[in-house]
Amino acid sequence: MIQIENLTRVFYTEDMKTTALSDVSLQILEKEFVAIMGPSGCGKSTLLNTLGLIDRFTEGIYYFGNLNMQNLSPAQRTEFRRDNIGFIFQNFNLTDELNVFENIELPLRYQHRDKLFRKEAVERVLERMGIAHRRRHKVSQLSGGQQQRVAVARALVTNPRLILADEPTGNLDSKNGDEVMDMLEQLNEDGTTIVMVTHSIANSQRAHRIINLFDGKIVS
Ligand code: ADP
Ligand code: MG
Repeated sequence: MIQIENLTRVFYTEDMKTTALSDVSLQILEKEFVAIMGPSGCGKSTLLNTLGLIDRFTEGIYYFGNLNMQNLSPAQRTEFRRDNIGFIFQNFNLTDELNVFENIELPLRYQHRDKLFRKEAVERVLERMGIAHRRRHKVSQLSGGQQQRVAVARALVTNPRLILADEPTGNLDSKNGDEVMDMLEQLNEDGTTIVMVTHSIANSQRAHRIINLFDGKIVS
């Protein structure tokens, strides 16, 4: 599904050049569940953001299916991301001003789905995540575990082909973390490709394969 070749990402700040990714090549197959591990600062988030078309890269080749991502205009990249990729972050990244239903509905609004379509899709994932009874709650009224369920629901409401998760259990206690991992595992069994950054060896063992990064390079 994904093929990356010799990808490099360099950040320039005022007086410093940081090579966050250096000559990274990898393939991700349809329906794979891949974990990315490595010490802080080794480039895990940069790799995930690059895969997710949030960040641009300096050199290299990125194919998603048959599409060369470099050939897309900024607007096409945004559209491609919206229709194919779901994100889950360590700090949930939910919108405090919106309630649970509205947070999950947001990606469907970006897709210009009509109201009935949105309602049915949101209700489906609310049920699936076991948070239907919270649909009118403000997200600030929820526990961390519940907020991450909302974030998972928001990531999958558009039925993306790829879910990218950056330390999705990093802010959760072990019970809630395990529940989020169970959800990701189930999603993957249902056919969604998942790439997840984690510091947890136990969580990484849920994946089919572990990519170890060090200093911006894949070491194993
Ligand atoms: P990880 O997620 O593994 O902790 P990151 O991908 O966040 O690592 O960062 C990799 C390296 O790139 C670090 O040295 C970090 O300081 C640097 N970096 C990341 N984002 C930026 C940025 N926007 N500007 C400058 N340097 C950055
Ligand atoms: Mg990171």
